[in-house]
Amino acid sequence: MENFKPTRYTLTNVATGREFEDEGWMLDDPQTPEPSLIRTNYASKRLNVRSEDYGIYRFCDWLPVRRMLRGSHAPVTYKSVRLAAHLGLKNLYITFSGYFPQVGARMTTCSFKETEAYNVCARRAENEKRILVVASAGNTARAFAKVCSDNKIPLLLSVPEENINALWFDAPLDPCVKLIAPQTGGDYFDAIHLSNLALQSSLFYAEGGAKNVARRDGMATTVLSAATTIGEIPDYYFQAVGSGTGAIAAWEANLRLNEDGRFGNKTMRLMVSQNIPFVPMYDAWRAGSREMLAYDADQARADAEAIDAKVLSNRKPPYSVRGGLYDALKATDGDILVATNEEARAARHLFEELEGVDIYSAAGVALATLIQAVRDGKVDPEKIVMLNVTGGGERHFQRNKELWYLKPHHVFPLDPKPDYVIRTVEKLFAKA
Ligand SMILES: *Cc1c(COP(=O)(O)O)cnc(C)c1O
Repeated sequence: MENFKPTRYTLTNVATGREFEDEGWMLDDPQTPEPSLIRTNYASKRLNVRSEDYGIYRFCDWLPVRRMLRGSHAPVTYKSVRLAAHLGLKNLYITFSGYFPQVGARMTTCSFKETEAYNVCARRAENEKRILVVASAGNTARAFAKVCSDNKIPLLLSVPEENINALWFDAPLDPCVKLIAPQTGGDYFDAIHLSNLALQSSLFYAEGGAKNVARRDGMATTVLSAATTIGEIPDYYFQAVGSGTGAIAAWEANLRLNEDGRFGNKTMRLMVSQNIPFVPMYDAWRAGSREMLAYDADQARADAEAIDAKVLSNRKPPYSVRGGLYDALKATDGDILVATNEEARAARHLFEELEGVDIYSAAGVALATLIQAVRDGKVDPEKIVMLNVTGGGERHFQRNKELWYLKPHHVFPLDPKPDYVIRTVEKLFAKA
């Protein structure tokens, strides 16, 4: 594994089809003003799955990575017996990203954000001097913190002070990971604003979110895991979405698998879900609109407050952009479904009872909509259904462990002066 060769690929502008070289950390096509996602084209059209020792890099043929980092794990897919019988599904497969050793799932930050973090950080050049900046409401920050700490990659996290209890770890982190926080009262959007101020300093660079191909292709490993385990591309894909990045990635994985040819030539229907009352993509989709509808900021804040699955409360998702979620749903004859907190809670209990492990609220939302879809006859019970359990096993993992919490190195007021932010974050990383 020492002599790992960087994966060979080019990038394509989804809107125009223009193909170009990745000159390093490209997040957009520099030659086209029209906003569009860019996509990877891998030199290898056939996916050669490596051994489990490679962790998530067992799918490295289709990951835009230069090296392999330590400590990664791939999502695990298994055929459900008890939940499948309960729902009356013949071919229900669960793709689990989290901690569930019984099925071989060992992601210790317990969500599929780990698939993003290991690949984003492995895309980064080893001699990169600048510091990666990630703003997050919780799961993403925890995943990046672990990967960067274990691999000594400098990282600046921005997380709302109210959410910092999401930053638990089973061991202290390396000091290369620093945390800043907008003070209590601030939300995810204030954390993004704060990170944007930090990014005005040339010492830092942005992770890029959905625009980063490493993030999407990392999440695509859920579908690669499913197809290579089942031997076939699933017919339906169920996932709860906040940004929709995971579902866009699932569609892109489907296109690559079709090109490979060994897993059938199919269009997997994307069945994505949101948590009532925070449902802006559902509203746009129902209205047949590529553009998001107007969403009053105070209302959005209140709705985000009301949902169990906070990770699904993204107000600016890559829905309208070319190659984004709207296009993915159109191309796959997909749909957006919704579930209440009560339905999601019932689904979480059901999963734990029948499959034997706790799952996050977001995964509960996905399962709740699968239950509805089966009841409403929207799913053919003979077909292959993939339930993407995007996170779980947290309680299982934390049992009998002493936890360590990352504390903010600096808490900022809600509308800080840019100069003050820049000076402060530069000082955090100044060599002693
Ligand atoms: C982030 C997250 C989601 C939503 O993922 P997107 O594809 O980015 O919308 C779902 N479930 C869990 C557990 C998450 O952490």
